[in-house]
Amino acid sequence: MMKGIIMAVREVMRKDRLKTLTSLKIKVGELGAEETRALEFAFEVCLKEARMKPARLDIIKAPITAICSGCGKKLRVSGFHHECPSCGSNGIKDLSSAEMEIISMEAEP
Ligand SMILES: [Zn+2]
Repeated sequence: MMKGIIMAVREVMRKDRLKTLTSLKIKVGELGAEETRALEFAFEVCLKEARMKPARLDIIKAPITAICSGCGKKLRVSGFHHECPSCGSNGIKDLSSAEMEIISMEAEP
């Protein structure tokens, strides 16, 4: 997950001839404290692997997006309330783990 983000960042930096990443803002689904820490750790490891200097990571927690297997509707769910408001099905599939995107990044030449 984080590897893909770093690869995208490096691609942008290569194009713009930037060398040092200073900060990165990403959007993820609602994460627990443990998952947030794991993400920050993965970020540091990926930077090290890419021989990049440590940078600041801002994690924006977005509402969880889910899809209903009953009616196929896309939903925003909060907490553990996993019941489709339009058909009542509880077969809601959590999509948030697949959602991770870059909001902004700062880098220097
Ligand atoms: Zn439904």
